[in-house]
Amino acid sequence: MLFAARHKVIPHGGKSDDLVIYRANIEYQYNQNEEARMTALLATRSHLYFVFTLIIGSALVSNAAEPGGGSPQSTPFQLPALPYAMNQLEPYISSNTMSFHYGKHHQGYVDSLNKLTAGTEWAGQPLERIIVANAGATDKTAIFNSAAQVWNHTFFWNSMKPNGGGKPSGRILEMIDKSFGGLDQFKTAFTDAAVAQFGSGWVWLVQDGATLKVVRTSNADNPLAHGQTAILTCDVWEHAYYLDYQNRRKDFVTAFLDHLANWDFAATQLK
Ligand code: FE
Repeated sequence: MLFAARHKVIPHGGKSDDLVIYRANIEYQYNQNEEARMTALLATRSHLYFVFTLIIGSALVSNAAEPGGGSPQSTPFQLPALPYAMNQLEPYISSNTMSFHYGKHHQGYVDSLNKLTAGTEWAGQPLERIIVANAGATDKTAIFNSAAQVWNHTFFWNSMKPNGGGKPSGRILEMIDKSFGGLDQFKTAFTDAAVAQFGSGWVWLVQDGATLKVVRTSNADNPLAHGQTAILTCDVWEHAYYLDYQNRRKDFVTAFLDHLANWDFAATQLK
C-alpha cells in the first residue's frame, strides 16, 4: 500500500495547480516517513526474533547437556547409578565397603577422567574408544587408567546382583562346560587366577571366539585393551574387600561366585 501510494502521486503528469502539487508532496513525504518507520519496525522485529532464537537455541543445547540428555559437552562423564541399593549385597559385601568403593573410588576415577579430558579430543568420547586408543601408550597412562577404571567398575557392579551366584543356564553354561569342563572347574580357575594376581587388579571371564577363558589383569588393564570380550569380572584391588575380608581375598572371590555373580548379565555379553 505504501509503495502504491507513492507511485500514484509522484508521476503526476496532468494539468496541475499548486494545491495539487503541495498535497502530492505532503502525501509523498508522509509515505516516505511511514515507509522508514515500518522499515525500522520490521528491522527491530527481526532483531528481536534473532535474539529470541538464540535464547531458545541455547536453552535446548543446555537441556541436551543434562545427564541422560545425549550431549556430553558440559558434563562429559557421570558416575553411573548402581543397579541395586548400597546394602543389597550384604552380608557378602557390606554397605560400608560399597559406600567407599562406589562413592569414593569409582567417583574419583570419574572426576580424574573429567580433569584429564577437559578441552581435549577425548572429552565426552565413549569410554571404550578412549581405552582402546590409549592402551599401551606410555605417555597416555593416566587417561587410560582413569577411563579403564571407570569402565571396569561399572562392569563389576553389573557383574553382581542380590541373590546372585548359583548355576547359569542356556548357552553360557554350555560354553562354560565346553571351555572348562564344568562349572566347578571354571570356579576353580577363576578363584586361582584371583589369588595369583599379585597386587591390584581384576579377574575376568572373557570370550575369545567360541571359547571362554579366565584372564587376570593388573591395575586398570582390562580385556578391551587386548581385543577380548569381557563377560564377567571381580575387582581384586584391596579396596574391594579389605573392610569385610581383610587379607582373605579367596573368601571374597568365593562369595562373589557363590552368592553375587550375575549370570543373566554375563549371558547378555556373549557375542
Ligand atoms: Fe575397585
